[in-house]
Amino acid sequence: MAAPSRSGSRARRRWVASAALAALALGLSACSQTTAVERTPAVERSEAESTTAVERSEAESTAVERSEAESKPPNAAPSPSPSGVPTYPSPTAAAAAAPSSAPAVSTDPANPLVVVNKRRPLAPIDFAPELVVPNVVTASGQQELLNPVTAHAAEQMFAAATADGAPMTLLSGYRSYATQVATYNGWVARQGQEAADVASARPGYSEHQTGFAFDIGDRSGACSLQPCFKDTKAALWVAAHAHEYGFIVRYPWWYHETTGYYYEPWHLRYIGVEAATHMHRRGVATLEEYLGLPAAPAYGG
Ligand SMILES: [Zn+2]
Repeated sequence: MAAPSRSGSRARRRWVASAALAALALGLSACSQTTAVERTPAVERSEAESTTAVERSEAESTAVERSEAESKPPNAAPSPSPSGVPTYPSPTAAAAAAPSSAPAVSTDPANPLVVVNKRRPLAPIDFAPELVVPNVVTASGQQELLNPVTAHAAEQMFAAATADGAPMTLLSGYRSYATQVATYNGWVARQGQEAADVASARPGYSEHQTGFAFDIGDRSGACSLQPCFKDTKAALWVAAHAHEYGFIVRYPWWYHETTGYYYEPWHLRYIGVEAATHMHRRGVATLEEYLGLPAAPAYGG
C-alpha cells in the first residue's frame, strides 16, 4: 500500500485523535462506575463540549505524531474506513510483538498477571478477591478497597509520590460483580446493549473486580478522569515511576485497538515489580503484547 500523503496522514491523525477524545467524553471508559441515571448529565455535557474536544485534538497533534514515531508498532495503526468506523489489526498482531521471554499467561484471578479484557472475562465471572483498606488518601474521603498485595504496593507508591512533590489520591478501587451488573443493566434498559457496551464494561470484564486495579487523581483535583489528567504532576510521576512499585498504566495512548479502551492515564494495574519493570525497560506498552495475547478491541460476541 502506498504511503499516505503528508496532508492525508495529518488528517487521519486528527480524525483518530478526535474520535479518541470524543469517545472519552462520551464515557468509553474501563473505569465507568456511575449509574446510567447519574451519567446522563455527563453525556449531555460532552455534546456541548464537542467543539472544545476537537480543538484540543488539534493542539495535541504533536503528541500523536510523537507516539507514532516512538512507540506505535507499524502493524497496529487504526485507519478510518469509508464508513468512518476505525478498522483494527488482526488479532495476531499483538501476539507477533510478544517478547520470547514472556511469562506464562494465567487465568487465575488472584494472580497478578491475570489478563482481564473484552475477550477474557474473569473466571469465575463473579470472582471476589480478599480485600483490605489501603492507607492512602482517597478523593471522596470514603474508604476504597484493594487486594492485599496491591494495597501494600499502593501505600508505598503514594508515599514516594508525595515525597517527590507529586501527591495523588485514590479515586476508585475494587468494584464488585454486583455493582457492575447494576450499572451495565441500567444502560441496557435505557439504550440497548450496543450503547451499553460503549458506555460500560460488562459484568465480569472489569479489571476493577480483581482488586489489582484502581484509578488515581492528582491531589489538586485537577482533570480527574479527563484527558488533561496526563499533564498533572501525579500522572507525570506515575508514568515515570509506577513500575518501581509494580504498576503499569494499563490503557496507554493509542493502544485502544489492543486493550479495548482509550487512553486512561489514571487507571493503574498491579502486575508486580519484575513484570512492570520489564515492560518499562523494553518499552512494551500493553499487557496483551507483553504476554503474547491477541488484541481485544471489542467483545467476542
Ligand atoms: Zn479504572
